[in-house]
Amino acid sequence: MTFTRRTFLASAAASLAAPAVIGQARARVVVVGGGAGGASVAHRLVVAGAGAAEVTLIEPKAVYHTCFFSNLHLGGLRSLDSIAHGYDRLAALGVTLVRDSVTGIDRDSRSVRLAGGGSLGWDSLVLSPGIDFVEESVPGWSLAAADLMPHAYKAGAQTRLLREQVDAMRPGGVFCLIAPPNPYRCPPGPYERVSMVAHRLTEINPSARILLLDPKKNYSKQTLFEEGWQAHYPNMIERLGPDMGGDRIEVRPDRMEVVIDGEAEAVDVCNVIPAQVAGRLVAEAALTDETGWAPIDPSSMRSRFDPRIFVLGDASIAGDMPKSASAANSQAHVVAAAILADLAGATAPPARYANTCWSLIAPEDSVKVGGTYEPTPEKIASTDRFISQMGENRATRLATWQQSLGWYAAITEEMFG
Ligand SMILES: Cc1cc2nc3c(=O)[nH]c(=O)nc-3n(C[C@H](O)[C@H](O)[C@H](O)COP(=O)(O)OP(=O)(O)OC[C@H]3O[C@@H](n4cnc5c(N)ncnc54)[C@H](O)[C@@H]3O)c2cc1C
Repeated sequence: MTFTRRTFLASAAASLAAPAVIGQARARVVVVGGGAGGASVAHRLVVAGAGAAEVTLIEPKAVYHTCFFSNLHLGGLRSLDSIAHGYDRLAALGVTLVRDSVTGIDRDSRSVRLAGGGSLGWDSLVLSPGIDFVEESVPGWSLAAADLMPHAYKAGAQTRLLREQVDAMRPGGVFCLIAPPNPYRCPPGPYERVSMVAHRLTEINPSARILLLDPKKNYSKQTLFEEGWQAHYPNMIERLGPDMGGDRIEVRPDRMEVVIDGEAEAVDVCNVIPAQVAGRLVAEAALTDETGWAPIDPSSMRSRFDPRIFVLGDASIAGDMPKSASAANSQAHVVAAAILADLAGATAPPARYANTCWSLIAPEDSVKVGGTYEPTPEKIASTDRFISQMGENRATRLATWQQSLGWYAAITEEMFG
């Protein structure tokens, strides 16, 4: 049977209105992706839901390495083990774990297909698969080249590889980072990475240089990073923005060359962070628009195309919220509340969102940017904003660093139990 949006919306509205009935099988909530968004939803549903739903989390990896704090591994400040998390505690709390990938979503039969074979039915579906990379967005770069020129923008093996490459650089070598165009995961992430690599090189290879190629005119926390680089790593970092060819880059992975506005330059390490779109699965289920990201209802994170499906985290178009773990976790609270309200036949509390993005510029020198958000009919809109100030003293930056450690402990607890 072919799915049409009108017939679907009519049946979906009817099913949403029907609360769970005592004696009826528990509602099946399937969550795809065990990262910042998905794990947080699954955790919240079993903790706050008191058994109202049967919660299944589908995730191919046995161990999730957080992208957040992965730059600190590149800086030599944190082990990979310290950012690795398993799903045992979530299972103990009552989440059914399926270690597999979803290869397709059938909205007619309300089921997902699994790479390992078979399918799973759902009453509510939650999608938080994160991002996929746009190959050739930097000409010459594809996923096949990621062993030579890593992205390290999904943490784990790629993070380890990039750290090994930095450590093996010849004295006085060039580390090149190609930053992505907007919108992308973690707006300050590439610049925190430059900071952490600079810290590492200052310790082990002080004559090395960092070349930052950036298609964007401006970037997140720019003045704070520039001030920090000047203070901690003078003369090490050179940034070429679009006025200097930073938006006209090609790479030749086999020759370890970057071509800037037609001129080839040899580099020793090349970290390519490509343009990004919502995790492929979301587009394949026709839940994205022409931007490559998923439009959502700002009051609930329900897909604009299908109210039984929630899309959150990096894959969603979350208005003024950045693509961050902090944002995904905040959205997870709204999603879980909406699902539990559906099950109870009640109205969900008004959605409120918050975000903080931390960046470490040097050991104990941390800065933050963040805000609060509320839904409007068009988008999730910013209501308040804060940002670290230039020239802050060491005690303030140390306090920010300590807050970021507290945040890491809290969010990983809210994801994995
Ligand atoms: C270097 C770096 C630093 C960062 N620092 C910060 C920070 O300090 N603070 C902050 O808030 N954010 C930070 N972020 C951003 C943050 O990591 C992401 O925004 C966040 O992880 C997004 O959550 P998500 O649930 O959308 O995706 P993810 O956390 O990536 O989770 C997606 C999961 O879905 C799984 N998946 C994908 N496809 C399928 C499928 N078909 N079937 C089943 N499972 C699937 C994946 O295996 C993955 O585990 C940083 C990111 C980077 C790269």
